Amino acid sequence: MKKLALHWNILIGMAIGVVLGLAAIFGGFGDFVQDWIKPFGTIFINLLKLIAVPLILVSLIDGISNLTDLSKLSRIGGKTIGFYIFSTVLAIAIGLILVNLVEPGSFLPEETREELRLKYASEANLKMVSASSVEENGPLKVLVDIVPDNIFGAFTSNVNMLQVIFFAFLFGIAMVMTPQTKVLPVKQFFDGANSVILKIVDLVMRTAPLGVMALLAGLIVDIAGDDPASAIDLFQALGVYSITVLVGLAIMIFVFYPLVLTAFTPIKYRAFFQGIFPAQMLAFSTSSSAATLPVTMERVEKHLGVSEEITSFVLPLGATINMDGTSIHQAVSAVFIAQAFGHDLTMTDQLVIVLTATLASIGAAAVPSAGLIMLVIVLGAIGVDPEGLALIVAVDRPIDMCRTIVNVTGDATVATLVASTEGELKWLDPDQIDQEETESRGPR
Ligand code: ASP
Repeated sequence: MKKLALHWNILIGMAIGVVLGLAAIFGGFGDFVQDWIKPFGTIFINLLKLIAVPLILVSLIDGISNLTDLSKLSRIGGKTIGFYIFSTVLAIAIGLILVNLVEPGSFLPEETREELRLKYASEANLKMVSASSVEENGPLKVLVDIVPDNIFGAFTSNVNMLQVIFFAFLFGIAMVMTPQTKVLPVKQFFDGANSVILKIVDLVMRTAPLGVMALLAGLIVDIAGDDPASAIDLFQALGVYSITVLVGLAIMIFVFYPLVLTAFTPIKYRAFFQGIFPAQMLAFSTSSSAATLPVTMERVEKHLGVSEEITSFVLPLGATINMDGTSIHQAVSAVFIAQAFGHDLTMTDQLVIVLTATLASIGAAAVPSAGLIMLVIVLGAIGVDPEGLALIVAVDRPIDMCRTIVNVTGDATVATLVASTEGELKWLDPDQIDQEETESRGPR
């Protein structure tokens, strides 16, 4: 029998997870899922996080040191960052247009709002504590934070991804500038280490269907708690807001990225979608672009045919600074909360949202709920009570799962675009990939 492709196995794992989670709520065995199923999801996420720092470090150094001249690096860097900023601002604009048209805030009944605010006030307060420390920092804090004062300090936390990227950059550029005879052994080391780490990614991904099943079952039990009815009420009350965000995300995935790919690359969007699908599913299940990064890199390089050089430069950078899904979410949520609190927004307020949401999405860590925390900055800038976060906390996780898909797809689109403009895109036929995979694994 032909083995099912990984993404089908992941989808099946997700479906089983949802059914199991719902059965657990209604069948009253939520504790069993928490104790015996969810930990496998946690182990799976830990495995992914475990390889995040070594992967970024090794692949980026390897990628940059392969560049023979620095002018090429700055050209690729310019294109990448330019397009990242363009797509972020566009995403915010789409979010603003949608939320102003739909006005989800006006759909919210007064009692529900009050109830939600009370119910989630404490959870929102917690998020606000971490966010207020973000707010107190000066405007250049983002820059200062990029430069680590101790590289081992940077390696010890997945939150310091930009610092690791900075160090890898410095190391890679210094390698390019050092005489090749001296650098050769270092280069061979990073070449080999890169292959080993990609192999680890492959091994971890074979456990993805199980991991994803456990994650989703655990998540559903978490959201519903002991009271399934309350969970359903919350979802209904915030339905219009959620749909507005989802429509924005769908526009990015189904309109904007296909347009970019069609206009600038030879890849058909369907083939692109097939190639990147496992990464999208993982983004959905983990809500973290950082946790998904190893798989995004593997898929973009091995399945879309983007050169290693471009993959290892564009994707780690994108995972940290390019979050189109988060941008849409910032815009829609800020205006929704303002509407719900009866706060009229002027044109200037909307422009302030564009600016602050851009910074917030760049500054947001590639981990679950990061976007929610950064929203306090946007709310503060337009003079809306950050208490409003309480309104959307309940639905944030499912939306986070979806916006993370967009974040990851945006990065992959830019990697493909940059590779195409650099003549470094070797498009692969999906059938050819399956065959190559079977051959490289050998007979079973
Ligand atoms: N979870 C998102 C990510 O990792 C960030 C966010 O919260 O918007 O890409």
